[in-house]
Amino acid sequence: MINLPNDDKSCGWYSVLPPAEPATKLAATQKADYAIIGAGFAGLAAARRLAELKPNARIILVDAQRVAEGASGRNSGFVIDLPHKFSLEHPDPELKQKLLGLNRTAIAQLQGLVDKYNIDCQWSAAGKYQGAVGSRGEAHLNHFEQLMKNLGETYRWVEKEELTKVLGTNYYSRAIFTPGSYLMQPAALVQGMGKNLPKNIELLEESPIRDLQKSDGKWILHGDHGTIITPKVLLATSIFTKEFGYLKNRLLPVMTFASWTRPLTDEEMKRYKGELDWGLTPADHAGTTLRMTADRRILIRNTYKHVPKYGKSIGNETRQWVQTDHRRAFLARYPDLADVPLTHTWGGIYAISRNFTNFFGQLEDGIYASACDNGVGAAWGTISGTLMADLVVGADSQNLADIQYVTGMPNLNPPEPLLGLGVKFRINLAKWQSRSEL
Ligand SMILES: Cc1cc2nc3c(=O)[nH]c(=O)nc-3n(C[C@H](O)[C@H](O)[C@H](O)COP(=O)(O)OP(=O)(O)OC[C@H]3O[C@@H](n4cnc5c(N)ncnc54)[C@H](O)[C@@H]3O)c2cc1C
Repeated sequence: MINLPNDDKSCGWYSVLPPAEPATKLAATQKADYAIIGAGFAGLAAARRLAELKPNARIILVDAQRVAEGASGRNSGFVIDLPHKFSLEHPDPELKQKLLGLNRTAIAQLQGLVDKYNIDCQWSAAGKYQGAVGSRGEAHLNHFEQLMKNLGETYRWVEKEELTKVLGTNYYSRAIFTPGSYLMQPAALVQGMGKNLPKNIELLEESPIRDLQKSDGKWILHGDHGTIITPKVLLATSIFTKEFGYLKNRLLPVMTFASWTRPLTDEEMKRYKGELDWGLTPADHAGTTLRMTADRRILIRNTYKHVPKYGKSIGNETRQWVQTDHRRAFLARYPDLADVPLTHTWGGIYAISRNFTNFFGQLEDGIYASACDNGVGAAWGTISGTLMADLVVGADSQNLADIQYVTGMPNLNPPEPLLGLGVKFRINLAKWQSRSEL
């Protein structure tokens, strides 16, 4: 028996979407030229690219949940061009330039889809603030500045006075603004992409795949009420890839949590005093991510948990203290909005590896995967899904060569109980070190 996604139903982004049409589910025996499991950023991009490259092929995209119910629809909505902070510190400058190029290709691709299908998802070229609260955070920013200089990237220091006017809080002492990140409403973007798939893709939702078996040179994907028979399977299942027996001791399931307010009223906007449509990530990486959406909601994201049993690892008690922590973070920044409630709190799961290396490639004959997004999968999922399709059909490109250059094998994890204890210690240490930015 494999463990399936078990996401909560309290995601704010998803809750404000109009009710989805009834799902088409996997039934009977289906033959496909390609089957993609997982309809997040990676799976949607892989399916789209395959459909372009093989317009006459039958392509099935299948997900255990509705599109946008998984991590791709419940994140903080940053589409980030810069490499992940651990990759930014990589000694190889070529690797960083290639990562930047790949992320920017992904952003252009998403921008193209938003424009083409008129996807209403608050897509915005807003850039990103990286905000420090005290001297420890400012030291991180100094280091970040050096990394930006080494990369030759554009950035700008934002001092407290200007920052206070934008954010509506004087909580932060300084920030570095980088212009290349985009903001969006993740559930709306992902659902919009799911609704506008090319004609030769069949999207099957609420159709968990419980088993992969090989017979007569074909892969058989077993669902609850049907099977898919196909020569080629693309796993776009992020952390759940290990449930199919691949990269089993190399991926770590991490959950992080977000809460948001309802849209502020006109009177509350006067008390808020800041601007709309900005996003801030913490200078110290385990701190709080903060957003003011274009539709006046303040979003708080922080806290990490190691979740070996995915959503089932988190009980009501944990959710309660996460919400209490979010409330505390909100009040520390916006004491004048103390009467504004946090209406939704949700968690989501993604995959990290101990060496922060992404896996991309073939796992065995007919099975391909892009797994381990390290928590920045909006751009990464999009580009790695696209290029996974190129790899499967043998289409050569510079981008494919680049992604093969920047990816590798995630490190093996130590055995339990060492793993659980080690991850808990690392998370708690990072939380303590980032305490001023929580
Ligand atoms: C709270 C939070 C905030 C975040 N903020 C950001 C951010 O601002 N920017 C950013 O870039 N990233 C962010 N992330 C990370 C980002 O959401 C992920 O990196 C990204 O969603 C990964 O995309 P993906 O397509 O690879 O995987 P996923 O979105 O995880 O998609 C995998 C899909 O596989 C499906 N699946 C799994 N098992 C099965 C099965 N057996 N059968 C069928 N289907 C299956 C799942 O239902 C899921 O839909 C955040 C994550 C969280 C949780």
